[in-house]
Amino acid sequence: MAVKKKTRQAVARELVERRFLPRGSQTGVVAFVVGAIGAGALGAGVWGRFIADPPFQHALYLLVPGAAVLAGSLVWGSDIGPVRVGDAGVAMEANAEVVRIPWCDIDRLRIVGRNLVVGGTSITITIPLGPHAQAAAWILAEAQRRVPSVVDVKGSVAELLPKPSESAGESRKIDDLQVAGRHCVRSDQLIAFEGDARLCPNCAAVYHKSHVPDRCAKCEAKLGARALPVPTT
Ligand SMILES: [Zn+2]
Repeated sequence: MAVKKKTRQAVARELVERRFLPRGSQTGVVAFVVGAIGAGALGAGVWGRFIADPPFQHALYLLVPGAAVLAGSLVWGSDIGPVRVGDAGVAMEANAEVVRIPWCDIDRLRIVGRNLVVGGTSITITIPLGPHAQAAAWILAEAQRRVPSVVDVKGSVAELLPKPSESAGESRKIDDLQVAGRHCVRSDQLIAFEGDARLCPNCAAVYHKSHVPDRCAKCEAKLGARALPVPTT
């Protein structure tokens, strides 16, 4: 009995994902340039309004858009965070938050302009191809393998992306997945604790540990003993 349990634990694999940092320069420089223009216009406005004698007529008009552009650029610049791709789906880090869409909740994956749009049932994650070309390449490749029916990217458009490189991104264990509060796909039972959850290793559908089917109800992959526990911290 004890031996059997040990064997099963040894076979069970961990949830892993790849984490990609945005290719900094592009976004950073654009945000910085716009920010600098904003700050410059703000400076000119302040100078014209309060220092120049007589005050420039247009000084106030310069002041307001200057501040607006500056504020806008700060939001924009901090918008593009690291992207993660792996067993738990697609995730984007924005400030201290991690927004995650499991593969089973993706309705449609497509490229719109210079963005990869991961459309989910309740959330959509838009990933800019410029700073995240490798992340996008990995998402497309993984989606084609895991949930091919949602992929809506023509071959000619897919050529915008590089080949997914094994050396891109940092491969790591998923240790911050939160599934408590979700419902078992099969029984609809509330998952009260992470420890009660089992994940489909293909599409990340969540099951209560006592309701794991032989085949995943979402992607039809073989499940049973292949279902993965969610690490608790
Ligand atoms: Zn599945």
